[in-house]
Amino acid sequence: MAIKGTDIVKKLPEGGKKNCKECGLPTCFAFAMKLASGGIAIDKCPYISPEVKIELEDALSPPIKPVTVGTGVSALTVGDEQVLYRHEKTFIHQPGMAVLISDDEPADVVEAKIKKLKELHFGWVGKVLKADMLALRHASGDRAAYAALVKKVLPVTDCPLMLISDDTDALLEAHNLCAERKPLLYPVTAQNLEKIISAVQARPAAVAVKAAGVESLVPLTNRLKEAGLEDILLDPGSRNLQSAIRDQTLIRRAALKQVFRPLGYPTVAFPCFMTADRQREILLASIFIIKYAGIIVLSDIDEHSLLPLLVQRMNIYTDPRIPMSMEEKVYPINNPDASSPVLITTNWALTYFIVSSEIESSKVPSWLCVKEAGGLGVLTAWAAGKFSGDNIAPFIKKCSIESKVNHRRLIIPGKVARIRHELTEALPDWDIIVGPREANEIPSYLPGLVKSWKN
Ligand code: SF4
Repeated sequence: MAIKGTDIVKKLPEGGKKNCKECGLPTCFAFAMKLASGGIAIDKCPYISPEVKIELEDALSPPIKPVTVGTGVSALTVGDEQVLYRHEKTFIHQPGMAVLISDDEPADVVEAKIKKLKELHFGWVGKVLKADMLALRHASGDRAAYAALVKKVLPVTDCPLMLISDDTDALLEAHNLCAERKPLLYPVTAQNLEKIISAVQARPAAVAVKAAGVESLVPLTNRLKEAGLEDILLDPGSRNLQSAIRDQTLIRRAALKQVFRPLGYPTVAFPCFMTADRQREILLASIFIIKYAGIIVLSDIDEHSLLPLLVQRMNIYTDPRIPMSMEEKVYPINNPDASSPVLITTNWALTYFIVSSEIESSKVPSWLCVKEAGGLGVLTAWAAGKFSGDNIAPFIKKCSIESKVNHRRLIIPGKVARIRHELTEALPDWDIIVGPREANEIPSYLPGLVKSWKN
């Protein structure tokens, strides 16, 4: 937050000494502290003057505004970042990856790009990784061709759209075709600013401002804000690596360190316009993931280049304070049936993937119960009291495994053999079996165990 609670309290009624409790808190100081952390709405205090309310709302707004492109479940939100370096806290909204389609490209190329956007989805540690949006570019000079491209795309995908045209009339015509999808219009320049403002005031859209340099963006964003438009992205126009990194860093530093509101918006980067070499374009995109793009436009995607970018993005934007975890549930592996063995482990993603892949290797159809344990590994979860007889038993009762199998044998990780006794007491119907200490022993352990049950 840009303003501290100790500064807010001085602006509250009677200099923060009214303490009437009408906000539900015991003192104005408590209200100020909670307001600063985003825990209470400013409207809860009925005595704040309108002027102070505006001042505080401005001071409390995030230094980089969150901007949403698109609508519904496919909407993409970027911005709202609060730190310069990921290790300071976490990055919040991962950059949107857009695929560029130009209206002068052959129909089969256009269709192939749309198909790839829709189908290149990768399962990765329990998440689905994919590109996010289409950037539709007016390159032909033919307004009818551009409108036709927009009309062609609209019914086949609900992804967010970026409209790109230096012909403002063509841009606004395209906007009219898809205004209900809340597209992103690009570029907004000093030349077309007022025309775009009028159009977007009538039919809301996000806008990406382009100028020749960071400083030149400032009057444009000031004018947009004055007109009540704040869904803004920034393009400082840099098209080589050195100036692009410099500008991205300048914008991020100005927004976060100086709380300079005119640059407090996410950025858009165009590796697709910076090189004709696909390998270099991917390299540029990977740099923009780190330095600090809100939307990255690629000329094309394929599985070999997109997957590494998406994994990099996921890694950079995963909150380092929160372990990657799996959903608590029963996972079927190798098509199990009612007689298949039941194993249990914790929900740390790495634990899940190691254990599940070793079960897969064993070729034994199995049920793997994954218990929520704060995203910790088995031993750590046990030490933290999150993987013990007391809490495993209720999970086994509620996770539906009892209705899936016709036996009551539960295999626990060998590293927590010590919980066998307490688990036996907590689950008297179940035979608790201590499994291997290491997951890599599962392929040799499991077939023999199942065979012994059948004899
Ligand atoms: S309602 Fe306002 S004046 Fe009253 S205690 Fe809360 S912050 Fe202070």
